[in-house]
Amino acid sequence: MPEVYILLVDDMPKNLFALEKVLNTLDDVIAIKASSGQEALGLTLQYNFALAILDVQMPEMDGYELANYLLGDPSTCRIPIIFLTAAFADEQHSFKGYERGAVDYIIKPFDQTIFLSKVKVFLELARYRIGLERTVEERTSALLEESNKLRLLLENTPDCIFNLDQEGNIIFINQLGANKAFIGKSVYQFFSQTDIALEKNALHTVFTENKTVEFESNMKLPWHKQSNFYNHRLVPIVRDNITECIQISRDITHLKIADEARLKLVQAEANNQAKSKFLASMSHEIRTPMNAVLGYAQLLRREGTFTTQQREYLDIIDRSGEHLLLLLDSVLDMAKIEAGKMKLIPVKTNLFNLINDLKRMFLLSAKKKGLKLNVSFSEDIPDWLIIDNNKVRQVLINLLGNALKFSDHGKIELRASVVERDRNKITLYIEVEDNGCGIEAEQLSSIFNVFEQAESGAKQIGAGLGLAVSNEFAQLMNGSISVQSELSKGSTFRFEFVAELTEDQPKQEFCQPVIGINLDHNEPPLVLVVEDEVDNLNMMGQMLSSVGFNIRLVTNGRDALSVIKEEDFPSIIILDLRMKDMDGIEVAQHIRELPQSQSIPILMISASPSPLNKELAVKAGINKFLCKPIREQQIFDEIKNLIPVNYVYAENGTTAEVDTRNHSPLNSQMLEALTLSMRLGLLNAIKSGYINVIEDWVTQIESHHSSIGHKLRGFTEKFDYPTLIKLLESTIEQSDDPK
Ligand code: ADP
Repeated sequence: MPEVYILLVDDMPKNLFALEKVLNTLDDVIAIKASSGQEALGLTLQYNFALAILDVQMPEMDGYELANYLLGDPSTCRIPIIFLTAAFADEQHSFKGYERGAVDYIIKPFDQTIFLSKVKVFLELARYRIGLERTVEERTSALLEESNKLRLLLENTPDCIFNLDQEGNIIFINQLGANKAFIGKSVYQFFSQTDIALEKNALHTVFTENKTVEFESNMKLPWHKQSNFYNHRLVPIVRDNITECIQISRDITHLKIADEARLKLVQAEANNQAKSKFLASMSHEIRTPMNAVLGYAQLLRREGTFTTQQREYLDIIDRSGEHLLLLLDSVLDMAKIEAGKMKLIPVKTNLFNLINDLKRMFLLSAKKKGLKLNVSFSEDIPDWLIIDNNKVRQVLINLLGNALKFSDHGKIELRASVVERDRNKITLYIEVEDNGCGIEAEQLSSIFNVFEQAESGAKQIGAGLGLAVSNEFAQLMNGSISVQSELSKGSTFRFEFVAELTEDQPKQEFCQPVIGINLDHNEPPLVLVVEDEVDNLNMMGQMLSSVGFNIRLVTNGRDALSVIKEEDFPSIIILDLRMKDMDGIEVAQHIRELPQSQSIPILMISASPSPLNKELAVKAGINKFLCKPIREQQIFDEIKNLIPVNYVYAENGTTAEVDTRNHSPLNSQMLEALTLSMRLGLLNAIKSGYINVIEDWVTQIESHHSSIGHKLRGFTEKFDYPTLIKLLESTIEQSDDPK
């Protein structure tokens, strides 16, 4: 039990000691003595008394007066008082004592037991009161602490919390930014005209239906710079007749923005997929008819009975078709890059040849613009490297093309060299420098972005795709493209890439066109062609039969299977991928299920060369997958790789045409019309590589033999020097009689 203090006041010390002695018999009681009213009042400042026992008759301040003081002071007014007197034992005095707030009145001499039991009762009451007070105190401070926490929470929450009445007037607002000026004002002032209706509706529902309401709207708080997007939650204050509600408005602008961004991303992803799908089907739609166009052009060329003009038309068909396919490829490249599906296809490549081919390709255009084009290689570049030759070529065509496009004087220099080399890998750089218009410093980085063009180059034709695509290619090759440029002085683009080193060097093949099959008394191989596009089917059939293959043409998988089941076994099957009823993969699966056709080679051709299709084709047991449009030479080569067949090739200059490279017709007999010195002159010029000397010879020949000269120009413009050399050499060797 906690100790309690009892105040004893008597002017007689002996009385005090006697009382103290009696009280000391009680546990946990400490008697504090005072011999005067003054002293007693002083002690009340130090102790929290549970009981006061006052002598009535005392000099200066008697017991009643002291009681008056005690009762008049809030800190002591609740102390129970027992008056103790010997002198005034009559009833009148005891009433006076009670009037002064005494709880008891004891006459001296008192019975000790009765006195102590009375004291005990008061002490119990006092203890109870003190305990109660303590509990109240503790509870009050806990409540204070709680309300303090709540206040801090309210002040620091980013949510805007209002206490509103039925009319939407603000009774309380938590935001530090809001000063008292907003109390009593309408909450509607924070809403736009359109959103006020939402707030009004919400308040109406809260007050009429006594339930929580939630809605989202914009709100402009005066202490914020702009209007934000909020989630509002209105909660009724639960009482019988609710007249207030709490509104918690949470700023969800960032969530809204993130949501919109996510939606846009999903939309963009869907668009991207739709675009890829569209491009893939467009690619198929273009490649399929192009296969027929280019294939028939090749067949026509075989006829060999055309006028020069007709041959030129064929050339145009070829060139335009190839151009269209190139265009298609670049559009697909962009789509692939954007979809992150661009992959490297590394092959053994002679970089020296690749760059020299490009030089030949650009030389004439450079010359036409009065520009010099120089190419140099450092000696430590290996002859053969494993690189994605098509992508390297595409990057260089873009860099050289730009150098040419953005220059009108000076020279273009291509320099190839080694950055570093280890056991398996080599890092190379190829720089293309021009003296053209240059690029402003601030635009140097943006020109690598898709569709970005620098001011200085804006007048030129272009889509702003080239550098973006090239840069992506360079990165795929673990490299980069950088640029240094000065306005009006010129630019240097540096293309760095990593290549794999290789030991063995593939031998270069130069193939003459196939003109027949060497049968050696055997039957010609039977080729089964399965293709639902009749034009393509016939074209393929004619191409094969023109050199002597037996053919069987069918337009669907079902017919193909019955040919295999019921007729002769084909030696090889050429199968289209996309067909209406049963696609090529399915047909191949059925073919492989038949015991008699498990080992017949299948060559699949498709205008949709996706990796997935190729993978499915391999799984279905297809031996080779070719992409449309198919070149004549390519199909003959692939057949030769799959079945034993000996072709008869056209010999140099002795057949009607040397046309695998799609040039104007020219044969060795025609060249014999030229003087030997003309032929030798042109041959030497070509071998020396001096373009202007070659040009001079062609012009000279044109002035004497316009038709032959014209044909020769067709070859030189295409830089098909190997064919010209072969033709010229064959006529020179045969010629005993110089003219
Ligand atoms: P395009 O040439 O089709 O516009 P590119 O992506 O190849 O697209 O080039 C982007 C831009 O960079 C060009 O439009 C041009 O402004 C600038 N640029 C590229 N190469 C050169 C160069 N050699 N000299 C000057 N400006 C260049």
